[in-house]
Amino acid sequence: MTSLSGFRKFAEGLNEQDEVMPILFVGHGSPTNAIEDNEFSLRWQKMAKEIPVPKAVIIVSAHWLTRGTHITAMPQPKTIHDFGGFSRELFEVQYPAPGSPALAKETASLITTTNVGLDHDWGLDHGAWSVIKHMYPDANIPVLQLSIDYHKPPIYHYELIKELAALRKKGVLILGSGNMVHNLGIMHLPKGFEDINKEYGYDWAIEMNEIFKQKIANGDHMALVNYEKLHKDAKLAIPTPDHYYPLLYILGLQRKNEEPTFFNDKAIAGSLTMTSVKFS
Ligand code: ZN
Repeated sequence: MTSLSGFRKFAEGLNEQDEVMPILFVGHGSPTNAIEDNEFSLRWQKMAKEIPVPKAVIIVSAHWLTRGTHITAMPQPKTIHDFGGFSRELFEVQYPAPGSPALAKETASLITTTNVGLDHDWGLDHGAWSVIKHMYPDANIPVLQLSIDYHKPPIYHYELIKELAALRKKGVLILGSGNMVHNLGIMHLPKGFEDINKEYGYDWAIEMNEIFKQKIANGDHMALVNYEKLHKDAKLAIPTPDHYYPLLYILGLQRKNEEPTFFNDKAIAGSLTMTSVKFS
């Protein structure tokens, strides 16, 4: 299997270890968090210091929606500025972490239920770099992205990621980046965008946040997979599932003995939550 030889070389530093890497779902919120030291980004920085230093990071970002499932496989992923209307400073951000063609191949080979495409065009979108830049500012850890096949139902995402469970024992950090409550169409920003991170949630957003946390704490994954039936206001919290699906990837990786730790547990701008969770 020539496709594995490259990985074997890489894997000299990626042997199976006793330690199982934690898994993270991070609410990324505004792209501007990338260039601010605020309560959310400072927590991301702190989180990186609380968990073992990974050998590589695989990110499932809300901002890479595809037909079919793909993994970035280039040696040097570019920084993608996939937004409009922000400051030049934000457009000038570069996060020059290496990729890992070898780990991309191994990831694709571990997933047997579908053909995973090796991608050479994407890179790192802001769902990935706005968070990881705070966690690993030296950009010296390989970072890959796994795409979200947006043509598949919720259960697909929850089941697919289980095939990558073995990577957690090889020092790979798997991180989902989205937002559990994410309704950009009805945000409450009385003074404009400067209010984006101000703590405020509509009643339904706060209620949905509590429901999500309770189901996560109870390990009720199927209720979360079937999110449309979760509550009458689920449709307000998740008008489209792009920012919610990364959570399903992380739930799919939870081991039986693992407990959730919530952080950045806040509603902002009325209709967003930054609520994040680590399982370890
Ligand atoms: Zn986003």
